[in-house]
Amino acid sequence: RQGSLHPTAAHHDRLHNGLFIDSFDEESCHSRYQSAMYRGNPGRRPSAYLISKLRRHEALQRRCGPGTAAYSNALEQLKSGKRNASPECAYIVSISYSGLGNRILAAASAFLYAVLTHRVLLVDPSNEMDDLFCEPFPDTTWLLPRGFPMTNYTSFGVDTAESYGNMVRNKVIGSSGVAADASTARLPAFAYVHLHNDATVEDNYFFCDDDQRLLRRIQWLAMRTDSYIVPGLFLVQAFQDELDLMFPERDAVFHHIGRYLFHPNNHVWGLVTRYYDAYLAAAQQRVGIQVRVFGVQPNSPELLEQITSCTQKQKLLPEVLATGAPTTSPASRARSKAVLVTSLKSWYYEKLKSMYWEHAAVTGEAVSVHQPSHEEYQRSGARSHEHKAWAEIYLLSLTDVLVTTGMSTFGYVAQGLGGVRPWVLYKSTNSSVVPDPPCGWDVSMEPCFHKPPSYDCRLKQWAADISKDVPYIQHCDDLSWGLKLV
Ligand code: GDP
Repeated sequence: RQGSLHPTAAHHDRLHNGLFIDSFDEESCHSRYQSAMYRGNPGRRPSAYLISKLRRHEALQRRCGPGTAAYSNALEQLKSGKRNASPECAYIVSISYSGLGNRILAAASAFLYAVLTHRVLLVDPSNEMDDLFCEPFPDTTWLLPRGFPMTNYTSFGVDTAESYGNMVRNKVIGSSGVAADASTARLPAFAYVHLHNDATVEDNYFFCDDDQRLLRRIQWLAMRTDSYIVPGLFLVQAFQDELDLMFPERDAVFHHIGRYLFHPNNHVWGLVTRYYDAYLAAAQQRVGIQVRVFGVQPNSPELLEQITSCTQKQKLLPEVLATGAPTTSPASRARSKAVLVTSLKSWYYEKLKSMYWEHAAVTGEAVSVHQPSHEEYQRSGARSHEHKAWAEIYLLSLTDVLVTTGMSTFGYVAQGLGGVRPWVLYKSTNSSVVPDPPCGWDVSMEPCFHKPPSYDCRLKQWAADISKDVPYIQHCDDLSWGLKLV
């Protein structure tokens, strides 16, 4: 395969500096050990402590996961509704809904919470989550098996009586706001953690230490979030020492978790590698441009201009000569750039491609422009649509430079997996005006937590600006009230 792979492929570390282990069957998941050959950016080095935590967590998943006696016992406990005071194993189910980027960030968040609280992570297989990835943990499954007793868990919402927030509000259990009930007799076997964007103040007590002390004693949790809640976990005092040891570089949390957990299955890996080898491998540099189009947004000449002005001002792509201007000597043809556009629409790609065909680049570089698909509308849950979405997120993550439209979990996953700080296209308040500057280099590659808690657990009052108190948490460039790790 030499020649079609990235120039640094010879130096690849197939185990990503110890993030993965060697014991998986290679045939069942080609991407796990091949991905390093396709990555120009080898990425950050995980800490020895993170690696040891992952190995211990893998053992937990194996010991307590589906098919074990511990799992059967825990299911019986859940069916009985009675709390076991000292259960052998505890669980968190990550509910899978919304777009693929959201689902990946939700599962990553639930995983980090699972590691911090010694829970087994089980991923709800809805919306094709069982047909996109390889198993991340050896000799067990991370997929929630059929027959889960809470049969309607996928439809849980803000009003669900078993939600932690509602149980607190209805004084079924104690919490930060109410004096915590020292007696554990009243604690249920199951709680639903509602962290969707309509979460209430009580739901957000999840991010408070007192509440974590209660939640720790509940054997089964099911979590619904469409966001990357990890910056919120950094606000829980009880988790801070562990997080510091696991992630001495706080801007690389999703980078490590994402690379550890999300390996395209063989079908999706075929989509990724065939496309990469055919259209991107030969270029000297790959530039990814993610153009997220929501709903029926019309094609926007202003956004197109913003993309060209951002990429040219920042020297990510060359400027072009006027039609008829004398072109540079053929010697410069040796330099080439491949542009990967991902979008639901093909218009932006068509325009960029035409521009670099009809006009010569001032540098003489050959610029090729490619777009794998244009699905027109979001169709979450449709199999081939999901496969393409995952393949395109992954392809974006293999580019050397990334430009994103911001506020998109699709782009966040790509930048984190790639280990790339993206250039974010600023949103204009007036869609007929191109913002100036058109884009900025993001403060970190971490995803933005779109709906952080607004309650200060320690002071028991509405929070002031958390970003002012915590040096490694800042507001997001693409969403002023969002928070991200830097
Ligand atoms: P977000 O809504 O931008 O935060 O990203 P999500 O991934 O959560 O949801 C958007 C969904 O729309 C994706 O998962 C895809 O199903 C679809 N989608 C959006 N943009 C693209 C794209 O560029 N390519 C493909 N194939 N699908 C896309």
